[in-house]
Amino acid sequence: MKCVKCGRPLGPKPAATVQTAQGLSAWGPVCARRAGLIEAKPRQRAIQLRTTSHRPEETEDQLPLEFAA
Ligand SMILES: [Zn+2]
Repeated sequence: MKCVKCGRPLGPKPAATVQTAQGLSAWGPVCARRAGLIEAKPRQRAIQLRTTSHRPEETEDQLPLEFAA
């Protein structure tokens, strides 16, 4: 999928999608924010960095425990 505005390749989940007569159009995060399709969240990043630690081993250990019961 590519951003309809700037043509940049997007991941599997675009920041925003708009249904048009030609079909579903995907928008990148920057263009969607500029067009007002999504809200800008300036502080979100700092909060995420504080709460989510970069420890993949811990997450992998916790997942089997939740499914074990
Ligand atoms: Zn774009």
